[in-house]
Amino acid sequence: MKSGDYIEMDEKYGAHNYHPLPVVISWALGTKVKDPDGKEYFDFLSAYSAVNQGHRHPRIIKALVDQANVCTLTSRAFHNDRMGLFLKKLCEFTGYDMALPMNTGVEAVETAIKAARRWGAEVKGVPNGKQEVICAEDNFHGRTLVAISMSNDPDSTVNYGPYVPGFVRVPYGDADAIVKAITPNTVAVIVEPIQGEAGVVVPPAGYLAKIREACDKNRVLFIADEVQTGFCRTGKRFAWQHEGARPDIMCLGKALGGGVMPVSAIVADKKVMEVFTPGTHGSTFGGNPLSSSVAIAALEVLEDEKLDQNAERLGKVFRDEIAKIKCPKMVTVRGKGLLNAVVFEKGFEAWNVCLALRDAGLLAKQTHGNIIRFAPPLVITEKEMMEAVAIIKGVFEKIA
Ligand SMILES: *Cc1c(COP(=O)(O)O)cnc(C)c1O
Repeated sequence: MKSGDYIEMDEKYGAHNYHPLPVVISWALGTKVKDPDGKEYFDFLSAYSAVNQGHRHPRIIKALVDQANVCTLTSRAFHNDRMGLFLKKLCEFTGYDMALPMNTGVEAVETAIKAARRWGAEVKGVPNGKQEVICAEDNFHGRTLVAISMSNDPDSTVNYGPYVPGFVRVPYGDADAIVKAITPNTVAVIVEPIQGEAGVVVPPAGYLAKIREACDKNRVLFIADEVQTGFCRTGKRFAWQHEGARPDIMCLGKALGGGVMPVSAIVADKKVMEVFTPGTHGSTFGGNPLSSSVAIAALEVLEDEKLDQNAERLGKVFRDEIAKIKCPKMVTVRGKGLLNAVVFEKGFEAWNVCLALRDAGLLAKQTHGNIIRFAPPLVITEKEMMEAVAIIKGVFEKIA
């Protein structure tokens, strides 16, 4: 079958809840993918930062295959001999006391909100049902009803009501707005340290530190949704580390599964995590042996290959090189580490640029019409980065 045949099947049998770039991927390794016709591309999306370690990293694949041959799923009705090792590794990697494993990023967000509401009722003394959580405009926390109840993106929310109450939304990047929104019933503030889906929106310096301070003053939990920014993507293990603003709860996902399995978790210190008692939360697949083995390898790769440092260094190279390109429609290049975006003039259709990039051998996806996110696997080398930059330059310079 040819690429067009696969696309046709997706259209015919699949719900139309995505609008993918017309390209079919049938092979992947490291920073590269190929279509069924054998054409090769740089992957500059990395499955929305779920493939930080590169496609099919040999250590992660070995962990997957070895574990698949021994034991894959036990449920949490019994202990297994992998989950504890995974959670220990995750706590050491993140610097938190305890972790709670789930599967997808949005489940980590749900878990964090549940933890905060329960903490609010049981520790802070907010009457149950009155708990408030402050969130940011233009956030993306996933697709469940809780997550979309925080969202103000019409695509994500229209006609899905009734929405989950208990959320207060304030402008992103404005710490004073958070301070003003805090009431005695506020249990948590949840933000993305950099807004990925909104188009790699980097808040003003000091934003996270001010949130930390406001939360401390008012006995409110600070939740950082690091599902996309975490695991070395922005040049640090976690994006909050750019400001030393340690959250009370981190939501983790995407790259925790090493590009192989859906693995997510929240991490927190004991005083917060203790609100969960037997039967109060759970997941059939959360903490399963296969996910646990894969996640251990995924964390070891990030650590041993110092992918935070590589992201920091090559991110600078990327932004410097892109800024040099002469393209009249380009407004700015922004980001941290290897989470970057090029912003074009308002009203400019970046979709066609993505098609041209595809034809030139590089896959990236536009967001909000005029923004293209560039987020390659963190294992990318300087030589590969310069090849990719040359492709982008060639395409951008042809934009009239
Ligand atoms: C991708 C993402 C999620 C949701 O993760 P899923 O695995 O798709 O459920 C949540 N928060 C942020 C910041 C994300 O980027």
